[in-house]
Amino acid sequence: MVKETGYYDLLGVSPGASAEHIKKAYRKLALKYHPDKNPNEGDKFKLISQAYEVLSDQKKRDIYDHGGEQAIKEGGLGGGGFSSPMDIFNMFFGGGSPMQSERRGKNVVHQLSVTLEEMYNGSTRKLGLQKNVICEKCEGYGGKKGALEKCSNCKGRGVQIQVQQIGPGMIQQIQSMCHDCQGQGERFNSKDRCKNCNGHKVERKKKVLEVHIEKGQPI
Ligand SMILES: [Zn+2]
Ligand SMILES: [Zn+2]
Repeated sequence: MVKETGYYDLLGVSPGASAEHIKKAYRKLALKYHPDKNPNEGDKFKLISQAYEVLSDQKKRDIYDHGGEQAIKEGGLGGGGFSSPMDIFNMFFGGGSPMQSERRGKNVVHQLSVTLEEMYNGSTRKLGLQKNVICEKCEGYGGKKGALEKCSNCKGRGVQIQVQQIGPGMIQQIQSMCHDCQGQGERFNSKDRCKNCNGHKVERKKKVLEVHIEKGQPI
């Protein structure tokens, strides 16, 4: 029995998961929550990395299984603390961040089965692909031009500040990104927001590619 399952839960695996399984889980989540892709989930990326750092090392995993997070933090890491999430990520993916190549556009491989007859006579086939494209209706603006309004929730600052009393005469200010405007400070009200993309500026579109199958040479 393990003491805690917190790290396993973060990666969505069971405490009996194999090293291979843990690797796979981390790969999937790290790509999903990488700040390049998901800037609003910064903490999640860090937590996943920490969980992976511990569970991918049999020695640390044993310490965690027996003593939980407490034991890891009290020396299970060898005194150095957790590595930075980016280091873990880069180590895992072998140096360069895969996000960079992804931005340049990934190659998409599709299998298309053709009949012998089509190969022999040549033909044209249509292939439907899903793609994110700039919203046509608002031309990527997100709503009616000139209708951007200062966000009323954060008064245009893009951040919201919460004040919490943490003790007698002591308050703590917590600053976080404004969720109403996603930190932009401006937003469309629901009336002016583009209905087509819901203010997201991009839409998912089906693109149809025509694939020409060259007429085969007679043997
Ligand atoms: Zn706001
Ligand atoms: Zn739109």
